[in-house]
Amino acid sequence: MHENCAVFGIYAPNEDVARITFFGLFALQHRGQESSGIATSDGKKLHIYAKMGLASQVFNEEALGHLTGNMAIGHNRYSTRGSNRECNVQPVVVGRNSNTIAVAHNGNIVNAEHLYEELSEQGYTFQSSTDTEVIANLILASPEKNWVDRIRHAMRRLQGAYSLTILTKNGLYGVRDPFGVRPLCLGSIDNGWILASETCALDHIGANFIREIEPGEIVSITDNGVDSYRDEVGRRAMCIFEYIYFARPDSVINGRLISTARQAMGAGLANEYPVAADIVVGIPDSATSAGIGYSRESGIPIGEGLIKNRYVGRTFIEPDQRIRDLGVKLKFNPMPYMLEDKRLVLVDDSIVRGTTTPSVVKILRRAGTKEVHMRICAPPIRYPCFFGVDMATRRELIAAQKSIPEICEFIGADSLGFLSLEGLIKAVALPKDNFCLACFTGDYPIPIQLEMDKLALETTQSGRQALPDSGRR
Ligand code: SF4
Repeated sequence: MHENCAVFGIYAPNEDVARITFFGLFALQHRGQESSGIATSDGKKLHIYAKMGLASQVFNEEALGHLTGNMAIGHNRYSTRGSNRECNVQPVVVGRNSNTIAVAHNGNIVNAEHLYEELSEQGYTFQSSTDTEVIANLILASPEKNWVDRIRHAMRRLQGAYSLTILTKNGLYGVRDPFGVRPLCLGSIDNGWILASETCALDHIGANFIREIEPGEIVSITDNGVDSYRDEVGRRAMCIFEYIYFARPDSVINGRLISTARQAMGAGLANEYPVAADIVVGIPDSATSAGIGYSRESGIPIGEGLIKNRYVGRTFIEPDQRIRDLGVKLKFNPMPYMLEDKRLVLVDDSIVRGTTTPSVVKILRRAGTKEVHMRICAPPIRYPCFFGVDMATRRELIAAQKSIPEICEFIGADSLGFLSLEGLIKAVALPKDNFCLACFTGDYPIPIQLEMDKLALETTQSGRQALPDSGRR
């Protein structure tokens, strides 16, 4: 029961809300490519259309034409094998008549199984295996009278990460968990309001950025305007991988352009791990900015040594064995003209299992690169994630099993440097206690062990947003 992804919401009477939501999802496609869905409200009832595939594959004029109303929410889903089923697409719609809600969720609820059992005993039924349906039913099950209080009631029971957009017949709600693990922002257009996982979606639809939704905040958008509700919250714990990898470089989080933060990570790497080299290459796209930062700080020229095939998206056509054997060559093509006889600094965002990196180093060597000096924008990942990032079990994490010199040898590089935690914090330019850093430190911001015994650290997790070498690149 795990979810992660992109969420969107719009309240805009007299606008084609389904079409605008489609373009919002189109801009947020990088956060999830498995399925896409939109729910609208016309004030009398909710309309929903959601299917497997990219937003551009799921929606056409006919589908958008049926999605009438003044308000909408949208969702792009990321999932891994086993949970990529049609029934798990979002938004999730539950309830009946005026007691109906649609929910789109980015995150992972740690105590979802416990809540699922509790709700099942009360007679609530489930159509999917997502924790999003648990959230939706938990809101419906609340004894409170209005939607804000019902959401608030549910929030007191939920443990984990959730950025939500919620649609009822008469209102749109944006919700962020008390840690603020995943981003969510508020924007405005001429005749209405927008909620989106990242600011890049606002830019694409011509909306103005107003502010980020605060951790623990509920924003309600109805005919009465925009209202905010927030209980006392404890420490913040935003996932620092939003800066390293997940978010688009043109998005702004906590007032910092992601591209600027990544350039600062690259500059930090140049200071922490200088090396004599002829060219710097940032692995596209997530390490492109960091490569620029390393190049600027070190004075070593940046080059385009690897070209990424950007237009493939996700396909339902299974590759045959011959194509599968090509592995990373499907994604990256090295340019011998740029690389031959060169000493290369190769910058990447992270190493998780270490399954992709050796192949990248190999194709660069085959292209004539003389030396490969690997530089990584994050510290070694030694602990699994319980907030919805599909990074691996502890046993699979290469940095939990091998020393840094052993990893360097395993990936076939001439040298290897991981950015220090201090260097990473300096790059994101906010105090350390604003972030979740658990996959580096093992210090989880919520008492995970209360929910899962120690063995869970070794248990396979599925259905989560993936870090690079678990297949998302
Ligand atoms: S454990 Fe790592 S990947 Fe998971 S939320 Fe925390 S920082 Fe992000």
